[in-house]
Amino acid sequence: AKQAGRGRLSFFTEEMNAANRARQRMEVELHHALERGEFQLHYQPKQDAGCGAITGAEALLRWNHPRRGMVSPAEFIPLAEETGLITMIGAWVLREACAQNRRWQLAGLPELAVAVNLSACQLQRDELLPLVRSVLDETGLAPHFLELEITETAIMKDADLAVPLLEELKGIGVGLSLDDFGTGYSSLNYLRRFPLDCLKIDRSFVSEIDAGGSEGAIITAMIAMARGLRLRVIAEGVETPEQTAFLRNQQCHELQGYHIARPMPADALEALLRRERAA
Ligand code: C2E
Ligand code: CA
Ligand code: CA
Ligand code: CA
Repeated sequence: AKQAGRGRLSFFTEEMNAANRARQRMEVELHHALERGEFQLHYQPKQDAGCGAITGAEALLRWNHPRRGMVSPAEFIPLAEETGLITMIGAWVLREACAQNRRWQLAGLPELAVAVNLSACQLQRDELLPLVRSVLDETGLAPHFLELEITETAIMKDADLAVPLLEELKGIGVGLSLDDFGTGYSSLNYLRRFPLDCLKIDRSFVSEIDAGGSEGAIITAMIAMARGLRLRVIAEGVETPEQTAFLRNQQCHELQGYHIARPMPADALEALLRRERAA
């Protein structure tokens, strides 16, 4: 029995070593990805639920890996966070998204707010505030054309620290959205204290709409609550016409999801904006 136990142990150790090596390799590759220009941003439109106009676009990070092709952010963002590489990557994303939005404006395209996702590790006052200020300054983008998406979980990690940080960001003039709303544990009391502009209802609630369960009721309550707090509400992950109709009916302000448009490269969004301007 002892022998078999040892056998199992060395089997596990080998597996762990292999996993570790794969991780280390990805860490090194991630390190080089920035300087090799392997990152790119895709943009997913946000649509006004009333008039159907594009009001904004969320920047979503893509890693075009030389061997593996497009690697999903779900695969590499956690590693980037663990290794601290997210600081540099996040700064690149912010700069690129703001510069792109400014280029669209200078080209005379309809104005929109670009949204950038922030990871919990980026919520550090002494790094984030100077970064946001210098990126806006360098790119010449007016602050209200930038929106920061922060997850409910990231904010609630240290809610007492988050309040003053969000207030300072608000002071700069950028928009603030609570991402993945409904999946975390924010109390109404905190929601009231955070200087937010917008709640993004998580896809998991939207996807239940067709099922005809109680989720329709939950979304209805979320929207009513957001309105009570004078917040804009956007539903993410809208995939069907039924969901779209329901959300419009509930006076949700904005919609985002595959049914509206998938995330796309910058030039594809540009073409979409040109068509919208022409229409
Ligand atoms: P998220 O911020 O909640 O972004 C929404 C995700 O849902 C995106 O996945 C988007 O492509 C996907 N999505 C949009 N519409 C639909 C839909 O109708 N149906 C379905 N099934 N999915 C939809 P993506 O691009 O793979 O990003 C995954 C997550 O990675 C993001 O979730 C965000 O948390 C993170 N992420 C992406 N870019 C960045 C970034 O630049 N910085 C940081 N810190 N995180 C990022
Ligand atoms: Ca987001
Ligand atoms: Ca989300
Ligand atoms: Ca999410």
